[in-house]
Amino acid sequence: MAEDIAEILQSFTLSSKELQITDVGREELSSGLKECQSSLIGKIVGEKVANYTGVKNFVTTAWGYPKDLTVVELGPNLFQFILSKENDRDRIAKGGPWILDNQLMVINRWYEGIEDDEKAFKLAPLWVQVWNLPVHWISKDVGKKIGSVFNQVRDVIIPQIGGKEGRHLKIAVLVDIEQPLLRGTIIKVAGGVKWVHFKYERCPDFCYSCGRIGHSERSCGTSLSGNEGKKDNQYGNWMRAGNANGKMSPQKKQTGVIFNPQRRHWSYQNGDWVEKERGETAGSDVSGGLDETPIAVM
Ligand SMILES: [Zn+2]
Repeated sequence: MAEDIAEILQSFTLSSKELQITDVGREELSSGLKECQSSLIGKIVGEKVANYTGVKNFVTTAWGYPKDLTVVELGPNLFQFILSKENDRDRIAKGGPWILDNQLMVINRWYEGIEDDEKAFKLAPLWVQVWNLPVHWISKDVGKKIGSVFNQVRDVIIPQIGGKEGRHLKIAVLVDIEQPLLRGTIIKVAGGVKWVHFKYERCPDFCYSCGRIGHSERSCGTSLSGNEGKKDNQYGNWMRAGNANGKMSPQKKQTGVIFNPQRRHWSYQNGDWVEKERGETAGSDVSGGLDETPIAVM
């Protein structure tokens, strides 16, 4: 704010009226403040600029026609939603993901300065399917534990047995959208380790080069140097739930297992994983060792 004024003073010769400082007190702010306190701020994370009518129609339907909804466009892809009922605001803030034209709209409750707070829209809810778990591991507690690789686990759902989807867990998590989407994680099971992979439901557009939501490969600023030896397509359509219909993903068909020459070697010693120097062989108590772990989605 101070810099803005310095700039103005440098660029213009101001008249005495223009130089007059008006003190806006809390009293005058109170009506605007009250309105803001009954509002949510939504930021659309993506390259396409959403239009006002599109956003208004989307939220009206997606949020179940909430009463007294007012939509205000604050800037490109930044919107304010004034909702009189607290339970509507609560339901919407805790719900989601809100996907508009394949772009993610991150919703947060209003607070003073939110428009300029870069961290306000960093975490977004997503539904993640967890695949490749041993059947007896399908439980809420396991979902919570595996979900700890994300910022927060909001819910765990066990899809009904007997469906054609196959056995997996669904977890509702908060994802840090400044980081690449996680493709999976390694879990320790009796006698060894296992790669479980993640598939994202209703996943918004994301960059197949760096795995981040909000831009495409064409405008990806992430340098690929330092990636020698790694396969292309580190991220892709195969991370979307329902994409491969349970068959092998296209990535798997093309490249099979991705081997990373810069991989780290680990061995299992006295109940713990110990990183080893390259060239040393992994401990014999775990068959195969982690360096053979496929990191492609199966
Ligand atoms: Zn990128």
